[in-house]
Amino acid sequence: MLVLVDEPRRGRPGRPLRRVAADEPHVLVTDLGITRGDGVFETVGIAAGRPQALDAHLARLARSAALLELPPPDLGVFRAATLEVAGALADAPSAWCKLVLTRGPEGEDRATGWAYGEVSRDWSRERTDGIAVVTLTRGYASDVTTSAPWLLQGAKSLSYALNRAALREAQRRGADDVIFTSTDGYVLEGPTSTVVLRLGGVLVTPPVEAGVLPGTTQADAFELLAARGAATRTRPVRVAELADADALWLMSSTRLAAPVRELDGRPVAVDAHLTAEINDALAARTS
Ligand code: PLP
Repeated sequence: MLVLVDEPRRGRPGRPLRRVAADEPHVLVTDLGITRGDGVFETVGIAAGRPQALDAHLARLARSAALLELPPPDLGVFRAATLEVAGALADAPSAWCKLVLTRGPEGEDRATGWAYGEVSRDWSRERTDGIAVVTLTRGYASDVTTSAPWLLQGAKSLSYALNRAALREAQRRGADDVIFTSTDGYVLEGPTSTVVLRLGGVLVTPPVEAGVLPGTTQADAFELLAARGAATRTRPVRVAELADADALWLMSSTRLAAPVRELDGRPVAVDAHLTAEINDALAARTS
């Protein structure tokens, strides 16, 4: 299900959305999103036709665009595109919609935008049995957002080849996923997820200042858990603290909360009850 956003830039007149065939070509080979990964994206989860955390995803799209100095996206048009995709996928219990904004074809004063959605694969095994994870260095210190902002840490840019390479490295090591660490010994994030640990009864996640994306799923999970009386905290997390965690999750929009059952070959306890509670609450979100 594909909807083209002919004018994705804020404040420019343009044609409305166009629903087109997804198996036909629509993007020029000179598009900087393709040739240089020069663009930003979001993947929004959809539950029975309802986009989840859409406001937070749109805000993050605008934040990423600002970090890449792209023209500010027209969030109204991206919202409408997402709703159209979500409506077309309403029969599926869960689906996703990817929003893309690129710098457009090289040498042209325009941007490229689209929303593309599909029915989700079944993540129940990962959510119940858990995943095996390895720590891998991200190669940067945790002050990268201020010491080297041009490295665009914390922007959800289209340049995800490195994230995919890290996942292949995890597979070579017999694992399913990755927790990136900084060169100065801090926990960062997964290649497509936010890290959440339970330490001494408190649910903890690293801050965006460490160069990680503000995770929409983690933010909603913390809000839902806090409303049920759980203690939550966002603070820098040392890599050594991973060994002290009595539960660990990777959270993201489509897989939701995947409990970690093994970290660097060492077993980690899975709190099946709390994991199911988090995933049920996340799946029940109506916005
Ligand atoms: N961190 C990175 C690098 C990601 O790519 C993602 C999502 O794909 C996340 C964190 C989790 O964000 P969200 O919960 O909004 O999906």
